[in-house]
Amino acid sequence: MSHINIPIFVPHLGCPHTCVFCNQHTITGQSETTEDEIDTAVLQTLSLLKNPSAHELQIAFFGGSFTAIEREKMLALLEKANNYVQKGSVQSIRLSTRPDAIDDEILMILAKHSVQSIELGIQSTNARVLEASERGHTAKDSEAACRKIKEYGFELVGQMMLALPESTLESELQTARDMIGWGIDKARIYPTVVFADTALAARTEKNLYHPLSVEEAIERASAVYSLFAAHNIEVIRIGLCENEGLRSDKTVGGAYHPALGELVLNRYYLTRILNEIKPIHPTPNSTIVIETAPNALSQAIGQKKCNLYTLEKAYPQNRILFSPSHSLCGKEVKIFVKEN
Ligand code: SF4
Repeated sequence: MSHINIPIFVPHLGCPHTCVFCNQHTITGQSETTEDEIDTAVLQTLSLLKNPSAHELQIAFFGGSFTAIEREKMLALLEKANNYVQKGSVQSIRLSTRPDAIDDEILMILAKHSVQSIELGIQSTNARVLEASERGHTAKDSEAACRKIKEYGFELVGQMMLALPESTLESELQTARDMIGWGIDKARIYPTVVFADTALAARTEKNLYHPLSVEEAIERASAVYSLFAAHNIEVIRIGLCENEGLRSDKTVGGAYHPALGELVLNRYYLTRILNEIKPIHPTPNSTIVIETAPNALSQAIGQKKCNLYTLEKAYPQNRILFSPSHSLCGKEVKIFVKEN
C-alpha cells in the first residue's frame, strides 16, 4: 500500500518569532490557511486516485508550528481533518511543529484527533547554532519533546538542518546522534537555503554568513545520512521540494538542487564503496565486482554513472563491474575481486 501525503500548508501560523533562515511566506507561497483548503485538498486528491483504498492517505499540516497555532484555529483545522479520518476517506494526520510547542495537554488533543505522526523541527542540538539561528528554544526542549512524543506512541520524525550559522560538520553529526538517542523513527535533512527578505539574507549580503555550495551540501548531507542509515533510521527527505513553492527569484543562495536527495544517496554509496575496496587491495587487471540490491543499483552507479567513472579513475588498472543481487536487500553492498 503506497503512502500519500495530502499537504496543507500553514505558513508561519503559530510561530512566536522568526528564525533567521525562515520566510514561510516565501517557502509556501501563501499566507493563511482555512478549513476550506482541507476540503479542497482532500477532495482533489481523492478525485485523482483510481482506487483510493489502495493507498494510505495522510492529511499533512506542514510549514508552520502547528501546535503553537492559536487554540481555536488549531482545533478547527484538526476537527475538519479528523472528520475525513472518521469517515474513512483518509487514514490519519501528520503535522510539523516546534519543540517548545509540545506538552501533555497538546499531545492528548492530537491523540484524540487521529494524529499519527509528529515532525519536530529540531534543526540543531548545538547551543551556539540554536542561538545564532534565533530559534528561541534549546536542545533540552527538543529532547523533552522527543521523549514525550514517543511516550504517547506517535511516530516521530526529526527534522535537522545543515549549514546553519555557526554550524559545522561535527555539530551536525552530533545533532543526528542526539536525535537517534532521543528515539526518532525517521528523519529529514535540510541544507540551509537563503531566502530573500530574511535575516540570513542580510547577513549573507554583508559577508557575515557563507552559504554552502551544492557540492559541500552533498558531502555533509551524505555524512549525516550515513549515520542515520547505520542506525536504520529512514531519511524521508533531503532538501526542500520544488512543490514547496521554492522559486529561484526568491532565494539568494545556499544549497538548493532539485535532485539533491538523489545526489546525496549517490555520494553515500560512493563513500561506502571506496572505504570497502581499500582494504581489499585489488590486484592489477582483476575485476572489482560491486553487488547491491536490484532497486539500489542505479543509486550506487550514480547519476550519469558518476560513481562508476570516479571508481574507474581511482582504480585505473581494474575493471569495475556493478551487478544487482537478489540475495541483498536495503542498502547492503557486497564487494569482491574476480581474477581475470
Ligand atoms: S519555527 Fe519554523 S516556521 Fe517558525 S520561524 Fe522558525 S522555521 Fe519558520
